[in-house]
Amino acid sequence: MRTKVSIIGAGTAGLIAGRELAAKGISTSIYDQKKELGVPVRASGIISINGLRMSGISYHNAVTNTLRGARIHAGSRVMKISAREPVAKVLDRKKLADICAFEAEHEGAKVVKGRRVTEGDIKKLHKNSIIIGADGAVSTVARHFGMGNMGRYVLTYKAEFNLDIADPESVDLFFDNKAFPGLFAWLCPNAKDILEVGVGIDSTGGNSKKALERFLAVKEVREVVGDAKMIDNGASIIPLQMRRKIVDPERRVLLVGDAAGQVKSTTGGGIVYGSAAAIMAANAISDNISDGKSLLRYQEMFIKKYGRDLKLHRYINSFYSALEKNRIGSMIGVMNFLGMDSFISKYGDMDHPSLLIKRFFTRRAG
Ligand SMILES: Cc1cc2nc3c(=O)[nH]c(=O)nc-3n(C[C@H](O)[C@H](O)[C@H](O)COP(=O)(O)OP(=O)(O)OC[C@H]3O[C@@H](n4cnc5c(N)ncnc54)[C@H](O)[C@@H]3O)c2cc1C
Repeated sequence: MRTKVSIIGAGTAGLIAGRELAAKGISTSIYDQKKELGVPVRASGIISINGLRMSGISYHNAVTNTLRGARIHAGSRVMKISAREPVAKVLDRKKLADICAFEAEHEGAKVVKGRRVTEGDIKKLHKNSIIIGADGAVSTVARHFGMGNMGRYVLTYKAEFNLDIADPESVDLFFDNKAFPGLFAWLCPNAKDILEVGVGIDSTGGNSKKALERFLAVKEVREVVGDAKMIDNGASIIPLQMRRKIVDPERRVLLVGDAAGQVKSTTGGGIVYGSAAAIMAANAISDNISDGKSLLRYQEMFIKKYGRDLKLHRYINSFYSALEKNRIGSMIGVMNFLGMDSFISKYGDMDHPSLLIKRFFTRRAG
């Protein structure tokens, strides 16, 4: 009998896995509880240009803005990072979902919308198919197959405002471990006239909506937002740590994207690593079907390529999460003094902090 694959979740990770599997001629169905994919939009869409290339998504029609820099605020200090070339795109998440769904269907995958998959459904689907859990941070697939808990996560709340943005090429990140413990608060120009204001906090930070209100009361933010009209808002969750087990080779179950916790814990960005994982999972499944190779290769390949960077993201996040705002501010002062702002502007890589460190030591050695 021909092997089938059932993917639970039609976010970017599930749809990319579906696209890749179908392109290899593997019978693939993708199920999502949403009738309209990508809606409501509860996440931002900043994605590195390199990451977008790797994902294979024809993303151009979803681009709403282009970014080349960031301002990092802590206490009274600010570090400005500005690359010569654009480094990231901001994408409309609804359009991105539609493009990914179109590409998966175009390759022959079946996308079933408006179908919430229960643990009972998973049991039935599992009888005659390989299962991919691409069902986000609160994964039913991970729970059903006992693939461990999500170690760390942050709660988010974001809102969009209609206003003219002075510098639409830079994001602002505000570090304050008292007000926004676990991650940070941000201002992101989603388009030249749409500013996203958001916060990410861990469980010690209380209610995420209240944290957003705290952020909106910060002087710099109040000055920018003024009495602009809020056009959208909502809460979500970001996993900050990969599950220990992302594949069960015997039972033929794989997790990709947020379900696996494949997210950069410094920024909460998950699309690049989730897309890479989806492609690797599809390759591992294809090799398993054609040559009987173990599905464990998926986890091995992912750790080999991204394990070190994921760890570094986690270390950096744990490091600054333990510091008070003024200590982070002093650190920024020292880094500015040492010229780290220009160094990061020149050599920084959003997805791979290990590259920055490597370049730093190579430069020193040379
Ligand atoms: C506020 C915020 C800002 C972010 N900003 C960025 C950013 O700028 N850049 C970036 O790269 N990443 C960002 N992220 C993270 C990014 O959104 C996620 O990493 C990414 O969406 C994960 O994709 P995914 O396909 O794994 O999961 P999801 O996008 O969560 O998709 C999972 C899908 O599974 C479906 N589903 C769940 N359970 C079931 C079920 N039982 N049956 C059927 N369907 C089910 C859901 O409806 C959903 O469509 C942000 C996240 C948040 C919350």
